[in-house]
Amino acid sequence: MTAGPTADGVGRGAGRDTGPGAANGAGRFAPSPSGDLHIGNIRSGLLAFVRARQTGRRFLWRIEDLDRVKPGAAESQLAVFAELGVTPDEEPLVQSSRLHRYAAAIDRLDKAGLVYECYCSRKDIAQAPSAPHAPPGAYPGTCRHLGEGDREARRAELAEQGRQPALRLRTDNAAHSIHDELLGEVTATVDDLVLRRGDGVFAYNLTVVVDDSASGVDEVLRGDDLASSAPRQAYLAGLLGAGPMGWLHVPLVLNSDGRRLAKRDGAVTYQQLCALGWTVADVFAWMQQSLGFDDADENWTGIDDMVAHLDFGRLDAQPTVFVPPSGD
Ligand code: GLU
Repeated sequence: MTAGPTADGVGRGAGRDTGPGAANGAGRFAPSPSGDLHIGNIRSGLLAFVRARQTGRRFLWRIEDLDRVKPGAAESQLAVFAELGVTPDEEPLVQSSRLHRYAAAIDRLDKAGLVYECYCSRKDIAQAPSAPHAPPGAYPGTCRHLGEGDREARRAELAEQGRQPALRLRTDNAAHSIHDELLGEVTATVDDLVLRRGDGVFAYNLTVVVDDSASGVDEVLRGDDLASSAPRQAYLAGLLGAGPMGWLHVPLVLNSDGRRLAKRDGAVTYQQLCALGWTVADVFAWMQQSLGFDDADENWTGIDDMVAHLDFGRLDAQPTVFVPPSGD
């Protein structure tokens, strides 16, 4: 069968588990609990909250803890946002408690003939000749058309090494677009993406789509490093019968070398900045300046100012550089 998303979607009838509040829609912040958030991540999270408040959506929080978990990090991230005046409207959703939902989504796709096992290692993929016109790094389709005999042999080989096959989505390998409120049209080739990794962990693209849909999220605001993933997530959402999604990918905060801000750049977390004397008001003053609203009459000192005065229509589309203060 062809794999293009249909208006009906494979998963029609599965329903959302959101209750009546979903009628108003929701936005969300979904940090990985791998450590303290830096000021750039905090900026994206605050923007997601402001957007939800300005558009009458619920603001949800998701703990994406299937990978790279640091004990205590999720609690600490929530505590920082609480100090900044932001608390989610519902109990955070924890991905590790939802494995049955991800398995069920794969099952539905499988029943529609859209899932196949992939036995390739990273090296196999890097060394395979790529399909004509495929973007660099796209899956070359090695395991797409194997017969059952080959599959059994490859499965047994992997089992001997204590590994299991990954599961991939059978796509149409075509370009798909989404409309982003800030970036305009974003187009990417949707190749046969991984749904469950070879180590058994459900893949990010699957979990994000299943959870956003189940929570009634109808607008995603996040850093623009994830913009290129949006067409693939929208495609998968279509297959699973999810409703339409709005997208806003906001510019990242960079370090003085023009690279994405990282912990190694110095005092970049809220805790580190507070230790150097920053207050909540300093955080919001920096938000105002870094987002391009420092020409206004008002001074932002807290989240209410940001909600009242931030105008998404004139958000600075350029990334901002953050130079961490030094301790001397
Ligand atoms: N958990 C992802 C991260 O921390 C974000 C996922 C998303 O917003 O879609 O980068």
